[in-house]
Amino acid sequence: MNRKNIKYFNELRKKAESLVYPTCEEDFELNPEKIKHLFEELSINQVELERQYEDFKLTQTALQQSRQDFANLFDFAPVGYIRLDENAQMLQMNKTFMTMLQIPPTKLKNKHFAQFVDERDLALFNVRFPAFYKKPDNKTLELRLKTYKGETFEAELKAYFLDDTSELSKKTQPCLLVTLTNVSERKDMERELQLSAIVFENSDAAIMITDIEGRILKTNLAFSKITGYESEEVLGRSTRILNSGKQSKAFYQNLWQQLKTQGSWRGEIWNRHKNGTLYAEWLSINSVADKFGRTSHYIAIFNDITQRKQDEEKIKYLAHYDILTQLPNRALFNDRLQHAISYAKRHKQWLAVFFLDLDRFKQINDTLGHAAGDVLLQQVAKRLKNCVRETDTVARFGGDEFVMLLTNFSDEESAILQSTEISAHILKALSQPFDIAGGRVMSSGSVGFTLYPKDGYSAVELIRNADTAMYHAKEKGRNTYQHYTDEMHSNSLARSLLEIELHSALANQELVLFYQPQVDLQNHNKIVAVEALLRWRHPKKGIIPPNDFIPILEETGLIHAVGEWILKTACQQLKQWHTSKYSELKMAVNLSAKQFMHCDHLVETVKKVLADCQLDGRYLELEITESVMMQNLQETSNVLRQLREIGVCISLDDFGTGYSSLAYLKKFPLDTLKIDASFVRDIAEDKDDQIIIQSVIAIAAQMLLNTVAEGIENQAQADFLIAQGCKLGQGFFYSKPVPAELL
Ligand code: C2E
Ligand code: MG
Ligand code: MG
Repeated sequence: MNRKNIKYFNELRKKAESLVYPTCEEDFELNPEKIKHLFEELSINQVELERQYEDFKLTQTALQQSRQDFANLFDFAPVGYIRLDENAQMLQMNKTFMTMLQIPPTKLKNKHFAQFVDERDLALFNVRFPAFYKKPDNKTLELRLKTYKGETFEAELKAYFLDDTSELSKKTQPCLLVTLTNVSERKDMERELQLSAIVFENSDAAIMITDIEGRILKTNLAFSKITGYESEEVLGRSTRILNSGKQSKAFYQNLWQQLKTQGSWRGEIWNRHKNGTLYAEWLSINSVADKFGRTSHYIAIFNDITQRKQDEEKIKYLAHYDILTQLPNRALFNDRLQHAISYAKRHKQWLAVFFLDLDRFKQINDTLGHAAGDVLLQQVAKRLKNCVRETDTVARFGGDEFVMLLTNFSDEESAILQSTEISAHILKALSQPFDIAGGRVMSSGSVGFTLYPKDGYSAVELIRNADTAMYHAKEKGRNTYQHYTDEMHSNSLARSLLEIELHSALANQELVLFYQPQVDLQNHNKIVAVEALLRWRHPKKGIIPPNDFIPILEETGLIHAVGEWILKTACQQLKQWHTSKYSELKMAVNLSAKQFMHCDHLVETVKKVLADCQLDGRYLELEITESVMMQNLQETSNVLRQLREIGVCISLDDFGTGYSSLAYLKKFPLDTLKIDASFVRDIAEDKDDQIIIQSVIAIAAQMLLNTVAEGIENQAQADFLIAQGCKLGQGFFYSKPVPAELL
């Protein structure tokens, strides 16, 4: 009931009393009408009063409710509230704050806010806190707080200074209202985002985020590095800006299809750099879904793999091609041949495999140097390619060996015909002079070929048989070609058998030396020397001549042991002859090219054998051929000089058949030239041979060298040589090579 109502009510009461108890001053007439009216008015007022009282009660309840609401709001607000005085003493706090800081209800009193500040941030708090009391309001501070139990969390503080102007402050001291929010989670998230941003920016892989239309939304540094585009140049643009045009439409359709159905795509792709160059990348795209599961973005991550691809290509090339000639190598050739055989088999066709070996390549290499040898091989490769069709394969097998594959022959006849023609064509091409190192070099080759299916069914067989045929071409005098025959195969089988048997020949004492005399043509054919010639007494095949097995000894390396044995046996025999019948006899021993490859060993062996046999070096003559002399000029000449120093004589065998020039002859410490039997054979009829022999003898005399003519078989030959002043002669005319006991 408010005051106005009370006043009004009092006036009414007074009026009613004056009616019941009239005063003398008042002119009062007890009028029932008036009384009735007054009572009506009274009861109306009564109702009004009751209504107002009801209102008043309602207002009071509402007030109480709102007070409670406010208290609840204050206590259970999502942020912590505290009221601090000027010294940061806590005057009031809500429940959220208490929960945040785990403060037990019993410990509410006399709390200073600083005691909840983590030590690490205490200094910061002390510096910033006084400023909270100054305008402007709404200051924010982030602090690490520690709870009553000692746990730390990160909080954001917002302070509102309640100053003197407020009505409230007239009754209370000035204070600070502070709200607190636990921001640990947000901070963690921020840090995580920051980390992600660092990873995003600094990733070696390019990262590109697009919307579902493929419009670029975000790129990183690596993206710019790989594509050449700065971020701002591509933002909002379609990823098509990177297209190289190298992939087909179907490729992209398939990519999108997979991306939509499986949510990711991975693979290799070619794109275009800003500068126009193409690069290969390894790309993986993943779709990102929003909370409703709908694709909202795509994330593409890629690395530039151009270099890696180039390296791979290079490795692949190196594995399949010969660097020097750029021709396919053995591996690739085998592969192509195998495919060609399968194809020929299916289509009932014929194919041909050629094996080519350059004649005397080693000599060219040794005399002109390896660089010149390399140029020769390159030029040979070019010429060979010109001899065949684009679709045929020319490969280098290694060294001076080349192989070729020709396909698509309809039948045997055309295969033979065309292979023969091509062989001839190749030989002709190789016989043209080569321009090397400013000079002209002559070369030639030996070719063998095989035909599928006649000469072999497999790649191995066809190549091996072509090699055998080539070998026969070489034996036939080089610069020629041979088609493989089965007979060649049996020959090579026989050779393999010999090889096996040779291994035990020395131990089984099947190797023997025969001796052929060298006579003094100018002095009644007196025997002055013998040449030791090797023979193999085969238990089944009888005597096998050296030319049939010395190459095998050389290939297998047995030549070293056998060579040492020959030297020892010959010297022992000579010693025996010295003490029995021929006191001044000399012994000629042949040395093979392979024995010269271990020169140091050779000199030592010779020294030791001479010492063991107590022989003077001058009784020993070592025969070498021109090719031995040319194989390693410097080293050979050194070894010969060392042999010379111990008195051993050196003679040049088969003179005239090799490639040595007179200039080289002068450089070597030689004693004797042995004129090859081929010049002696037709000496009576062939004018050219006569001239050659005359010249050789004249040159030898000039150079103070001895001459020995080989292969003298009759009197006419002997007469001619005697007339020309040839010193010594050797041949069947005087004696065949014979066992020691027959001499
Ligand atoms: P070479 O050193 O030129 O030996 C001369 C060859 O001519 C010998 O053949 C000999 O029997 C043969 N001969 C000699 N006089 C006549 C003749 O009047 N008419 C004909 N048609 N031939 C005659 P052989 O013994 O078959 O030796 C062949 C080659 O084998 C030798 O040629 C030599 O290069 C090599 N050789 C022989 N024995 C040895 C050896 O012990 N060591 C090495 N490394 N090679 C050897
Ligand atoms: Mg000889
Ligand atoms: Mg000879």
